[in-house]
Amino acid sequence: MSSVDLAALLTGNRRALAKAITLVESKLDRHRVEAQSILEQALPHAGRSVRIGITGVPGVGKSTFIETFGLHLIRQGKRVAVLAVDPSSPIAGGSILGDKTRMEELSRDPNAYIRPSPAEGALGGVAQKTRESMLLCEAAGYDVILVETVGVGQSEYLVAGMVDFFMVLMLPGGGDELQGIKKGILELAEALVINKADGDSQHLANVTRQHYTSAMNLLRHTTFWTPRVMTCSALKNINIDAIWGMIQEHSLEAEKTGARNDRRAQQNLDWMRSLVNEMLLLRLTQNESVRARLPALEADVQAGRTTPYMAATRILELI
Ligand code: GDP
Repeated sequence: MSSVDLAALLTGNRRALAKAITLVESKLDRHRVEAQSILEQALPHAGRSVRIGITGVPGVGKSTFIETFGLHLIRQGKRVAVLAVDPSSPIAGGSILGDKTRMEELSRDPNAYIRPSPAEGALGGVAQKTRESMLLCEAAGYDVILVETVGVGQSEYLVAGMVDFFMVLMLPGGGDELQGIKKGILELAEALVINKADGDSQHLANVTRQHYTSAMNLLRHTTFWTPRVMTCSALKNINIDAIWGMIQEHSLEAEKTGARNDRRAQQNLDWMRSLVNEMLLLRLTQNESVRARLPALEADVQAGRTTPYMAATRILELI
């Protein structure tokens, strides 16, 4: 892989950006070193975008929403990057999220950059790479970063932990059990958006909105923001401008109160701490003496010859 042209990346060159992201996604150690150096140089130019997370069950309309919303933003003069966190699709290039064919018009727009979910990697995995790709997109001048995820495992928590505004798309009707939404996810959301509020579903969408408005009032509130519940139609472009208005309102307020910087600082700290955990574990599992001693220690624990605590202590003493 030839080296990345940072100057070109900073002027918004998409080829340079794509190359840098490929480097960030690479599993090779020497690529990792180069990627970190590029990231460090890009960092002073990052951080100026609005970071929005979008989740919802398959079929709720995420890609339709991103297409309509993204084109709306571009009409407002913004540049939009779409990233994805999809740990369920380790098949190279076979990600269902962020797939360009799902956002045809947006993907053809010169002011949009769509990148599918990285395949699972060794260190830090998919989310780690998406975070780094986000910084690169920001350095390349994208004003809005949309991070899409489908609710698999911890992916929603990871995405909520890397954005300024986390949004859950829902369908008209049905409780959260029916929609496969975990209670904890609703607590993380800055907004619930009931999509497909068009045609015959409009009334049901309004009823659903009222239901969730009461439910959300019982949940967490940050100091300055009460989670909103809205309806929209991604297909018919209804209320899409109101959703952007809401996000801008949040963004202004978060900046004014310092909440955005606090949140990002905390996210970076959490990110570092989880990396320390992962790196420690990796160092442990790759350690020769640990590998040599582990089978015997495990056998001792299974046979009750030693306590799990004692065995764990011995393993750690090996490094
Ligand atoms: P995803 O799996 O969450 O990305 O959902 P898609 O964007 O692929 O949408 C799933 C289906 O719902 C498609 O057939 C869309 O055309 C349809 N759809 C998406 N948004 C709307 C909407 O606002 N109204 C209606 N009526 N259909 C929609």
